[in-house]
Amino acid sequence: MIPLIDSVSEIEPGGICITGMPFDHQSSYRQGAAMAPARIREGLYCPSSNLWTETGLDLGSMTMLSDLGDLVADDEAQIHPAITRHVQQILEQGAKLATLGGDHAITYPIIEAFAAKHKDLTIVHLDAHPDLYDHLEGNRLSHACPFARIMENGWASQLIQIGIRTMNGHQREQAKKYGVTVYEMHQGEVWKDQLSFDGPVYLSIDLDCMDPGFAPGVSHFEPGGMTTRQVIDVIHGLGGQLVGADIVEYNPDRDHLNMTAMVAAKLLKEVIGRLVSPA
Ligand code: MN
Ligand code: MN
Repeated sequence: MIPLIDSVSEIEPGGICITGMPFDHQSSYRQGAAMAPARIREGLYCPSSNLWTETGLDLGSMTMLSDLGDLVADDEAQIHPAITRHVQQILEQGAKLATLGGDHAITYPIIEAFAAKHKDLTIVHLDAHPDLYDHLEGNRLSHACPFARIMENGWASQLIQIGIRTMNGHQREQAKKYGVTVYEMHQGEVWKDQLSFDGPVYLSIDLDCMDPGFAPGVSHFEPGGMTTRQVIDVIHGLGGQLVGADIVEYNPDRDHLNMTAMVAAKLLKEVIGRLVSPA
């Protein structure tokens, strides 16, 4: 097990921690992602697998790794500031962070904290959807909008999107406006040799980047997506200093036999392994 700690002050110097973000109030279509952190941890500790990464690290014996449990917010209005404050405290400890969503709206307050610490942040974003809507039915905080908010605030020097297959006219304009690099699924695996970056890198994984056949436990089924292997290869192939990551949009209500919990747990292991390794 990864040791559970109660406070950020217990993080080992230069350590890595995970935090659950059990929030889905900004989901437009179906709720359920708030249940994700607990179910991903169950997948992580399921005796059908082990805690070793494919790259040879045993997460079960790493003293620099800890789990802060799930973030608690008093009410809906407090979620955004609570996430930003929590991430800021972790970054002040010099730690790296992997969060378990939650819907994709959590990435906006997370990046608010990362951007305050890291200038020239590169964000690599895996998703079926560009999440660049200016607003969705009037809601600028929707899980369909986080990357519009991040880019209009100037919080990332570049945004690279992989797995996209739902572009519409508005979001294509938004991508152009914010200079987003979009690798769409219909183009083939064109991102493969484009994953080396200077400076800090943040990785945001929306599980619907994968084909629903590989990861059915998501709210939005969008066929024609990435394979689990392709996502793992992106994690392993990221060049640059990975400083943080999120895994979002797992919806246990839509899962079958915990298949997608196991996929999320697998990705979490490889993400932690990549956070441990220098570029
Ligand atoms: Mn998303
Ligand atoms: Mn998505």
